[in-house]
Amino acid sequence: MLSLSILCVSFVALSGCDSIKDRFSGAKSAFDGKQALEYVKPQLAFGPRVPGTPAHEKEADWIIAEIKKRTDSVIVQSWTQTTADGTKLPMRNIIARFNPKATQRVLYLTHWDTRPHADQDPNFGARAGSFPGANDGAAGVAMFIALGDAMKKTPPSVGVDLLFDDGEDWGAFDPDSSGKVYPDALFGTQYFAAHLPDPGYKPLFGVLWDMIGDKDLQIYQEQISVDAAPEVVQRVWQTAADLGYSKYFIPQVKGGVTDDHVPLINVGLRVIDVVDIDYCAHGIGCAPGSPDNYHHTTQDTFDKLSAHSLQVVGDVALTLVK
Ligand SMILES: [Zn+2]
Repeated sequence: MLSLSILCVSFVALSGCDSIKDRFSGAKSAFDGKQALEYVKPQLAFGPRVPGTPAHEKEADWIIAEIKKRTDSVIVQSWTQTTADGTKLPMRNIIARFNPKATQRVLYLTHWDTRPHADQDPNFGARAGSFPGANDGAAGVAMFIALGDAMKKTPPSVGVDLLFDDGEDWGAFDPDSSGKVYPDALFGTQYFAAHLPDPGYKPLFGVLWDMIGDKDLQIYQEQISVDAAPEVVQRVWQTAADLGYSKYFIPQVKGGVTDDHVPLINVGLRVIDVVDIDYCAHGIGCAPGSPDNYHHTTQDTFDKLSAHSLQVVGDVALTLVK
């Protein structure tokens, strides 16, 4: 750091200190990917954040305490969710508002719960149990806390709402016969869609950030998003391209994912899914459910994440609302 400071002093008149710092850290915004990765650790220490368990309670309490250090404007939505088999679960959505008076707003969302079962694990014996959820849950939350750090220091030009939603990953992702109600998953976003924070709440656009910490980051455009809000997809992938991140935000459409954006699209919000569903190590992609994909397996662990991947998505997210 000392030599960097000296360099900055020497060259600040020529090229500006920020650009020199950027070359050292790789950051392209005020977002701190290394710090974001640190925010994964306390969550994993709680254990799997499965609804109805003490770890789930602790995680929500932790998010609320952490985000209140970064903004005074926090809304908690609490309710009891009945699942498809009649189980009753305590649920909480946490909404943190930055620049709360701004009428032009952007909505970012990520789920904070962990799926109860590792039902894609190649080891059948492991499928009944839960899993750490390092990428599927903790990484998105960590990214949002780090976004809070940056937006506390420099408030965004538009209003930004960070929705930490609950109960995304409980059970099956199939809709009922109406095609619009998901009886066993996407609980938090269905609740949010029915209880928007303001009457007439209509953000300029919304982005769901899901499974964005994978070391081998490959984010393709998601089909439901492209169909519902092509201009938002274009905006996000263009911003990534402008930052030099087309290697990670690949401008190709690859399959649809039933995810937390769907209930919001269903009430007319323009929300897309930024999701790296090819969650594997070897760098050439892997189909969800294949033996080398860590999605919904006990292999969804801290070592599969990287600060650099969080840096990439954090830079894109922060630049979009700068
Ligand atoms: Zn999941």
